[in-house]
Amino acid sequence: MQIWDIAIVGGGTAGMTAAIYGARAGKKVVVMEELICGGQIVNASEVENYPGIKSISGAEFAASLYEQAAAAGASFDFRSVSGIEEQDGVKKLLTDGEPVLARTVILATGARNRPLGLEREEALTGKGVSYCATCDGAFYRGKVTAVQGGGNTALDDALVLSGLCQQVYLIHRRDEFRGERSQLTQVEARPNITILRSHTVSALLGEERLSGIRIRDLKDDTERELPVDGLFVAIGQMPQNERFHNLIELDRSGYIVAGEDCKTSCAGVFAAGDCRTKTVRQLSTAAGDGAVAALAALDFLSRS
Ligand SMILES: Cc1cc2nc3c(=O)[nH]c(=O)nc-3n(C[C@H](O)[C@H](O)[C@H](O)COP(=O)(O)OP(=O)(O)OC[C@H]3O[C@@H](n4cnc5c(N)ncnc54)[C@H](O)[C@@H]3O)c2cc1C
Repeated sequence: MQIWDIAIVGGGTAGMTAAIYGARAGKKVVVMEELICGGQIVNASEVENYPGIKSISGAEFAASLYEQAAAAGASFDFRSVSGIEEQDGVKKLLTDGEPVLARTVILATGARNRPLGLEREEALTGKGVSYCATCDGAFYRGKVTAVQGGGNTALDDALVLSGLCQQVYLIHRRDEFRGERSQLTQVEARPNITILRSHTVSALLGEERLSGIRIRDLKDDTERELPVDGLFVAIGQMPQNERFHNLIELDRSGYIVAGEDCKTSCAGVFAAGDCRTKTVRQLSTAAGDGAVAALAALDFLSRS
């Protein structure tokens, strides 16, 4: 059975960057992807903050990543990896069929934004519903937006948006915020942020684009409509690493414990992009990790 030099789990920005570096170094590289290549960014209508590219749709960005990795010589295997085992120094990636064997593995499984679970949320994503103020805030300059959430990300999103938008509603289902006190103090001091405690978004309004939201007051169970141009959902992310827990250390939130060197608790297994412990989850940081992880894998191969 073929033993790959580098098997990459996840064909998002981190995984594809690692594939480009690994394949260009002359190694046998396979990218395992359970959906389509490109990862989360496929759902972005426009990307304006990736250096060197002024503006591009998420789908175009994803297609060009795939073309570049394929042209560099990477192979693709469109299957889900359900686990990882180690056998005589070789890593075995489990699938629903034949396992994939590799001398090194780069986990680049990303993360999914936790959705609100409202009707038509997916259809309106990129059309008024967003999960990233750093990514999409600039599209709402001078407009009215809302943020749902109570942690640091929600507070941070509200601050980012208040610098761009005419009015920002910060909606939180509890009375107390989980985010840092200092951030909350800043939010409370911004005249264009209205905090709605004990409220939740109960419905998304609008046909082609979001035109408003319905909010519920959780204390008296009444509802009202709020016209907004954008809703930023900041209720957490869901990493997808539980299946690797037997071999790889995860933090309490399920992210792979790995620093800037992308090394995990298992020798020869590296983690890149949104799936690892880090503070900034963006395309540029995912690409940076992909390069670092591939070079670390090459170094591991040269020593073993
Ligand atoms: C709507 C939206 C808009 C965004 N806009 C921007 C922006 O404008 N600018 C910016 O910098 N960032 C933006 N981001 C964030 C950016 O997309 C992420 O930071 C980036 O995609 C992370 O790349 P990644 O490769 O680490 O993970 P991902 O892109 O999440 O890719 C992970 C891949 O791994 C696959 N996978 C997971 N588990 C398995 C498994 N077990 N087996 C096989 N395959 C698996 C997934 O299917 C996925 O394709 C946006 C995110 C979203 C959701």
